[in-house]
Amino acid sequence: MRYIDEYRDGRLAKDIARQIATLADPARCYHFMEFCGGHTHAISRYGLEDLLPQNMQMIHGPGCPVCVLPIGRIDAAIALAMRPEITICTYGDLMRVPGSNGSSLLKARTAGADIRMVYSTLDALRIAEAEPDREVVFFAIGFETTTPPTALALRIAIAKELRNFSIFCNHVLTPAAIQNILESPDVRKLGTVKIDGFIGPAHVSTVIGTEPYEFFAEEFQKPVVVAGFEPLDVIQAILMLVRQVNDGRHEVENQYIRAVTTFGNEKAQTEIANFFELCESFEWRGLGEVPYGAVRLRPQYAEYDAEKRFSMVTPAVKDNPACECGAILRGVKKPADCKLFGTVCTPDTPMGSCMVSYEGACAAHWTYGRFREHAKASERGRAVA
Ligand code: SF4
Repeated sequence: MRYIDEYRDGRLAKDIARQIATLADPARCYHFMEFCGGHTHAISRYGLEDLLPQNMQMIHGPGCPVCVLPIGRIDAAIALAMRPEITICTYGDLMRVPGSNGSSLLKARTAGADIRMVYSTLDALRIAEAEPDREVVFFAIGFETTTPPTALALRIAIAKELRNFSIFCNHVLTPAAIQNILESPDVRKLGTVKIDGFIGPAHVSTVIGTEPYEFFAEEFQKPVVVAGFEPLDVIQAILMLVRQVNDGRHEVENQYIRAVTTFGNEKAQTEIANFFELCESFEWRGLGEVPYGAVRLRPQYAEYDAEKRFSMVTPAVKDNPACECGAILRGVKKPADCKLFGTVCTPDTPMGSCMVSYEGACAAHWTYGRFREHAKASERGRAVA
């Protein structure tokens, strides 16, 4: 298939892997974080780590919006959904994310709540138009990629004077999260996550461009390579990072030139800015409160803001103590380090959010059997010790 097959050429991947092996300095280790769940998925699916030298480690970052949504936000949505006048519309992944006490939107729907799975914001608008007696709330989630469609939905709702449509906004921001990872006292204190460079997200960067990463590349002296989600994209990005590290450079480079520019999609950025403003602080699962880590509706659109319109309360809920999602999202642990991985927690019975979305690190490791390699590596490590 055009635009797909040429980025999945195993012969080329092996050739790039050979270049990486040649360039990698055997006297040092390389730790690269792929921020985005799409990259984690590609790495697991295509076994890219198997092509890398032993002294090169990929660290899975928090770039999956479903995974980083705190339990309290799910609980708040479930509480709202239980109100008889409310219809919640959201994407499929979110339906299965565990709330507190084993709850989920899916279970709430079974219990009678009106919760509908949609494929786009326009589906939610159509429901609001067709059913004027229902209060239709779109449970909006995602990075900068999905924020413009939510802004567009708002524009259409206002133009059509749809008074029964509102948005529960959970749109989070990428650069703030990467900065938080680098500044996190947890990460610094534990000292277990050494990051030599980042693979930046492709889809987010089509909207924001590469320019927003310049600050922390310079400030924290970490190279960033924005890369696409196909296996050749990812392995080429790793090669570019190795070159930067070896040269002592910390630049923002763009591997995904077929879609990403320096300044991004300015039209989409303007649409976001028209309807949303920065939140001073927003909780990310695994990262805690991230300064300017999300957006919210501007005050002039308060009637479309479900949190204000329905006086929603987001409870502070602690994660299941046995679930290691927080540590995995910070890159401190790997999925197979969690005792529940593959025992009580599988994609069919997710205990934590990292097992729900196919972009979640736990789901990717389980689905493509990467935990077996991890187990073998641990065995090897024990044997050597
Ligand atoms: S395996 Fe399940 S319980 Fe463990 S960290 Fe992953 S999602 Fe959480």
